[in-house]
Amino acid sequence: MASPPPQKDKRMQATLSIDLSAIIANWRALDALSGSAVETGAVIKADAYGLGAAEVGPALAKAGVRRFFVAEAEEGVALRAAIGAEAIIYNFSGLMAGDEEAVAAHGVVPVLNSAAQVKRFAEKFSGKPCGVQLDSGMNRLGMEALEAASVGLEIAALNPDLVMSHLACADERLHPMNTSQLATFGAMTFARATARKSLSATGGILLGAPYHFDLTRPGIGLYGGLPFTGAKPVVQLDLPVVQVRDVMPGESVGYSAAWVATRPSKIATISSGYADGILRATEGFSLYAGTTPCPVVGRISMDLLTVDITDLKELPTELSLLNDIQTVDVLAEKAGTIGYEILTSLGSRYHRVYKGEK
Ligand SMILES: *Cc1c(COP(=O)(O)O)cnc(C)c1O
Repeated sequence: MASPPPQKDKRMQATLSIDLSAIIANWRALDALSGSAVETGAVIKADAYGLGAAEVGPALAKAGVRRFFVAEAEEGVALRAAIGAEAIIYNFSGLMAGDEEAVAAHGVVPVLNSAAQVKRFAEKFSGKPCGVQLDSGMNRLGMEALEAASVGLEIAALNPDLVMSHLACADERLHPMNTSQLATFGAMTFARATARKSLSATGGILLGAPYHFDLTRPGIGLYGGLPFTGAKPVVQLDLPVVQVRDVMPGESVGYSAAWVATRPSKIATISSGYADGILRATEGFSLYAGTTPCPVVGRISMDLLTVDITDLKELPTELSLLNDIQTVDVLAEKAGTIGYEILTSLGSRYHRVYKGEK
C-alpha cells in the first residue's frame, strides 16, 4: 500500500488570508451610501478579483446580495454552481458565440451589448430575462443611441430587466466625463420605465445620489481597494523565510548584482516571486515583520525575493507582503499600477485561507 505523501509544513507555505467578513462589511458600507430604494449588487468577475468567487459569492449571497455580475459566461456557470438557483447572475459580455448553454441551462443573464446580440437573443431566447448595455461615452462595450434605436422594437419586445452603462472616470470626482455620461445615460434611458437602471460601480457610488439609479455594481470597493477610501483591508499575504544569510560589505545579492551591501547585512530569502504575482517592476517596497518594515533588496526573481532584515532583533519565520499597513493600493503605487491588478495577479501557488463568515 502506498503511503500518503508527506504533508508540507504549513509554516513553510505562503499563505493568502482572505477576510470574508471584511468583504461583507465593505458591501454593507457601500450599500449604506445609497438610498434604501437602491439595490446594491456585487461584481465578482475574474474569480472575484482573484480572491475566489466560489467562496466570496456564497458569503455575499448569505449577506443579502441578490444580483451578481461576471464578465464571461463560464464564470457565470461556475458561480451558479456555488450559490444556487436563486441569485441573479448577469454576464457583462452579453451573448457571445458558445454562451447558449450558460443561458439555457444555468440561467446566466446576458447583458446584451450590440444590435447583433439583441437579434440573436431575440431569435433564440425570447421570453428569458436579459439586460442591455448602453454606451454613454466610454466607447468600450454597449450600444450607442443610434445602434440601440436600430433594434428599438426588438429591445422593447424583450423587455430587459436591466439597462446599464459604465463610467470611464468615476475614480476622479471632478472629471467632466462624469456629468457628461450621467446626462447621456439619463437621456438614453428616459423612456425605459420598466427596466432597472444601473450606471455606477464603486467610483460612481461615491459620486452621490444622482449616479445611483436603481442598482449599483461595486467591485473593487468590496475587496478593499480605492477609490473606496473607507474600505476595510481584505487580504493579508504572509511569505515564509526559507533562508537567512550573512552578506559582507561589497558583496551583491540577486540577479544582475543589482544590490550591493554597504554594511554587514542579514538577508532573508523568501519563496515567492514574479510567478506569484509580485510584479518585478515594484520598487522601494518592504516586507513586514509585524509592523516593522524590512526593505526588499535586489531583483525580484521568478520564485524568490530577498529582504534586508539586518535591523530585526529576532530572525523571522515569515514576513508579510500585504497587510493593514501595506495594502493593495500602497503596493500598487510602488509597482506603478492599480490595486485591481495587484489583486488579480495574486498567484495560484498561495495556500488560501478564508476567515470570517461563510
Ligand atoms: C468591473 C466593472 C464594474 C465594477 O467596477 P469597480 O470599479 O471594481 O467597482 C462594474 N461595472 C462594469 C461594467 C465593470 O466592467
